[in-house]
Amino acid sequence: MGLSFVCQTPIQELTLPLNGNRVFVKREDLLPFSFGGNKARKARLFFEDIRTNGSDCVVTYGSSSSNHCRVVANAAAAEGLRCIVVSPLENQKKTYNESMLKVFGTEIFRCPLDQVSDTIRETMDSLHKEGAKPYFIPGGGHGNLGTQAYVDVYNEIVIQEKEKDIRFDILFFACGTGTTQAGLICGKLMCCDEREIVGISIARNTRRASDVILGSVNDYLTSCGRSPADGSVVRIDDKYILGGYGKYSPEIVHTIRDVLVHEGIALDTTYTGKAFWGMKDYIKTKNIRGKNILFIHTGGTPLFFDSLREMDNE
Ligand SMILES: *Cc1c(COP(=O)(O)O)cnc(C)c1O
Repeated sequence: MGLSFVCQTPIQELTLPLNGNRVFVKREDLLPFSFGGNKARKARLFFEDIRTNGSDCVVTYGSSSSNHCRVVANAAAAEGLRCIVVSPLENQKKTYNESMLKVFGTEIFRCPLDQVSDTIRETMDSLHKEGAKPYFIPGGGHGNLGTQAYVDVYNEIVIQEKEKDIRFDILFFACGTGTTQAGLICGKLMCCDEREIVGISIARNTRRASDVILGSVNDYLTSCGRSPADGSVVRIDDKYILGGYGKYSPEIVHTIRDVLVHEGIALDTTYTGKAFWGMKDYIKTKNIRGKNILFIHTGGTPLFFDSLREMDNE
């Protein structure tokens, strides 16, 4: 029921040729809860922890386009738990994700971006005072449980490679908080594998993103009693951020249209479409050929419909 699904998402090959490479997509968008995506993977582990702790209320953080907030709010509603989302006043675009929060009866506490941590702390304090047992999930499902979710996905990919008798040389995906990337890197290190894991940053510059990812990798590795890694394990490209979170170009819109028409797969302008477009350019400019490439579709299907609405207006 609800988030207690068993995971294994399909891997399918695309028909579009890409510089003489075979391109496959791992359909994390098809996870069977609340439109799926990497946030559903992560939330599944957070809600196991919530059940173990006997918490009766969930507090999290995210903007109005947050896929994480949608999934968490849906899961909380499904389990009959009160849910509070702290949301920055600076990002109040009207989105389907936020419309869904209303359906779930989520309480939204808005505050300026620079008061987010204070608001979260005050909210947790006053819930404790009321006698509630609140559980805080970091924005984007960041933290060791989020990392664990993508260590699990790495292991799932290794199993699927054996089943399909194929080996993926490079993994690409949209990188936001970097938890997805940290999990994939830890999975690779723990399997002692050699392959490239390339995050296409959708907002952060390379230095900031690398620092956060390496921090997550080492938090996770030390929690498993392993020795920490050095910065060389992180590969992230910030060439495609286009001025920041949510910014996109006509080329991204063109890519989204192409992938939808030829493959029947929906991407969005904030995450997956931006990353797919970045991956295409990365492959071309680095003249990568003859490889098996795996693009991880990290979800965000409701954002596809927001993108479609914006594309329609152009
Ligand atoms: C949150 C999100 C990402 C980024 O994942 P991180 O683990 O935060 O790097 C990528 N794609 C989609 C659709 C997302 O919602």
